[in-house]
This record gives sequence, C-alpha cells and structure tokens, in this order.
Amino acid sequence: MHALLEISGLRKAYEGSGRRTEAIRDLTFSVDAGELVCLVGPSGCGKTTLLKCVGGLLAPTGGDVLLDGRRVGGPPPGMAFVFQEYGRSLFPWMRVGENVELPLRQKKLSKPRRRELVSDALESVGLADAAKAYPWQLSGGMQQRVAIARALAYEPEVLLMDEPFAAVDAQTRADLEDLVRGLWQQRGITILFVTHDIDEAVYLGERVLILSASPTVVQEQLKIDLPGERDQLHTRAAPRFTELRTHVYEQIQAAKREARPGGAG
Ligand code: ADP
Repeated sequence: MHALLEISGLRKAYEGSGRRTEAIRDLTFSVDAGELVCLVGPSGCGKTTLLKCVGGLLAPTGGDVLLDGRRVGGPPPGMAFVFQEYGRSLFPWMRVGENVELPLRQKKLSKPRRRELVSDALESVGLADAAKAYPWQLSGGMQQRVAIARALAYEPEVLLMDEPFAAVDAQTRADLEDLVRGLWQQRGITILFVTHDIDEAVYLGERVLILSASPTVVQEQLKIDLPGERDQLHTRAAPRFTELRTHVYEQIQAAKREARPGGAG
C-alpha cells in the first residue's frame, strides 16, 4: 500500500462581488491505493469544494493535491467523477452505451477495446441489456448506474463520488451502496466517497474522515473495523455499527458547536 492521493494544507476561499467565503481552512489527509474512504460532514461544510479541488476542477487557494506524487493542476487522466445529479451528467440524446463510451474517446484505444470496456462496465453495474436505451427511459437509480459504468469504463486510478445517492429512494440507495462496495472489492479501485449521511459513511467506508463545519478541517479520522463482507441487514444491525455511527454523530455535533461564534453551547 502507498499513498495514492495526498492532500496537504489545502485551503479554498471563494471570492466574488466583494465577498470572500472561506470554504476550506486547512485539510491534510492521504488515501492509500485501493482504499475506500468516506468523507462525512454537515451540509455546507465544503465537501463538494474539496472533491472539486481534488479532481482538479477547482484551483485551491493554497496547499497541494498530489496524485501518485504528481501535482494535480487540472482534471488528471487518472480520475473519474460520479456526481449527485445523474439527470444532468448524462446526455439525453445519446444512448446509454454512447454515454459510457464518450470519455474513452479521449484515450488512444481501438474501437473493439472501447466496446469491450463499455460492455464490461455495463455488465458490472447490472445493465448489460440497457446499452441501446436512452437515459430518460431509465429510472433514477438506473441512470446513476450508467454514470458509475461510465466512470468504471474509464479505468480510473481514483474514483471520486460526490453524494452520488442523495437523490434516489432508500431501497435504491441501499442497492447502489452494495454495488459500490462490490465493485470496490472486485476491481480494487481507490474510492473517495463524500456524503452527509453518517450511516452511509460507516456502512461503506474502510475509513471515515469526519469534517468540521465550514471553514473545514479534519475533525477526526476513524478506522471502520467492521467485517469486509457487509450487508444491509446484518451490518446495520450489528452493535459495532451502532457504536461507530453514534461516535461519528457525536463528533459532527461537537464540530458544529465549536463552529458557532462563541464556541461551545
Ligand atoms: P457541501 O458540499 O459540504 O455542502 P460546499 O463545498 O458546496 O459544501 O460549500 C462550502 C461553502 O462554500 C458553503 O459556505 C458554500 O456556501 C460556499 N460556496 C460553495 N460554492 C461557492 C461558490 N461558487 N461561490 C461562493 N461560495 C461558495
């Protein structure tokens, strides 16, 4: 194992219309190759800002993001994103297969290899038969599976997921969570998963980074010592799961109190 992703002293302030919003105060953490790390924190604490800085979509105000020792200055070829808004991330006039294939056109791959990657990725997310459909013919959960397939087909070193299941119903969300853990186990990809849902972070992560309220710092890094094989029924009912989620909840509450003017209270 080595640190694939290193974030050091990251700061981000938004400036505009005479206003300055400090979104990220000082973040330092690393993610090992093959790790599944969840970032959890209250809404507005800077999770999306952080992920955009990590993915090179937004320039930080200070600090560094290194991917495999190389500084990230723009979207690096080794990263893929899955956003919350699946409805806006797929092109409605393109068939599912074409949507998944689109980013591969940037890579120097033969057409048969592209086809192979597309069908393999669609099969991995349980949509082997949907290649010819249009995104709008699919349910929200299926559209998000297409977005995941598109990211997988790209064969990223790191998969960045920004609240990807926040807009789907609870049952679909549970299925998608299991899909992500399954893909992570099968493919050994490195995943950085952002969520404001404490239970989701504990269920999915091998490690959970608890972020403070904005301006953000890492409040705590918590190893999730649940068994590798997890399932919605047993894992969520396990006493250790409850202990961990309670701990995360308390930390987030503490962070909120500390963030209030005047400190605790
Ligand atoms: P989260 O993803 O945790 O909900 P965000 O990263 O979206 O948090 O936002 C963090 C802080 O930065 C918030 O105070 C938000 O209002 C502010 N912010 C986000 N995007 C912008 C922007 N483009 N311009 C100004 N402020 C922004």
